[in-house]
Amino acid sequence: NILHEKIDYVFKVVVIGDSAVGKTQILSRFTKNEFSFDSKSTIGVEFQTRTVTIKGKLIKAQIWDTAGQERYRAVTSAYYRGALGAMLVYDITKRQSFDHVARWVEELRAHADNSIRIILIGNKSDLVDLRAVPTEDAVEFAEDQGLFFSETSALNGDNVETAFLRLLEEIYSVV
Ligand code: GDP
Ligand code: MG
Repeated sequence: NILHEKIDYVFKVVVIGDSAVGKTQILSRFTKNEFSFDSKSTIGVEFQTRTVTIKGKLIKAQIWDTAGQERYRAVTSAYYRGALGAMLVYDITKRQSFDHVARWVEELRAHADNSIRIILIGNKSDLVDLRAVPTEDAVEFAEDQGLFFSETSALNGDNVETAFLRLLEEIYSVV
């Protein structure tokens, strides 16, 4: 039983991006395998945890979720303090949420540690008919900025696990 074993590392990961892109649901999918259509916005900062095994080490991911602070520059530097990884989420059906990704990267560069690992996530990949952001645009941006990239669906779970594990493995490779 994983609970009786000793945690080797705790990795703080922050989830950022515009409001309503699915940050809370991605987190809920990864930590509880749950999804809800009416996620009420919570007040204040909170985090969820999940422990995974990477290369034989027990790693507790402590994943922080913003709650109503997604307005430009409203996320405080305390939120980023000690973060080793960031998941920067946009909604593939909302062009504006992708246009704002550059701002979020600036925020990270300004507040987070230089060595922070970042994965760009295009969420709601289940809504193919409503797609407003071509995958190639995001791939190009991610390559320019040196970010990892994946499209996910918190609704059906596609790529959520893989994306988190990729980020955690990347953090593990530099600790
Ligand atoms: P947040 O403000 O970024 O935390 O966004 P939420 O996680 O609260 O999600 C906003 C809305 O989008 C909610 O109604 C969710 O149910 C919905 N949503 C989140 N992820 C997905 C997804 O992958 N697919 C679909 N179709 N809806 C999603
Ligand atoms: Mg939320």
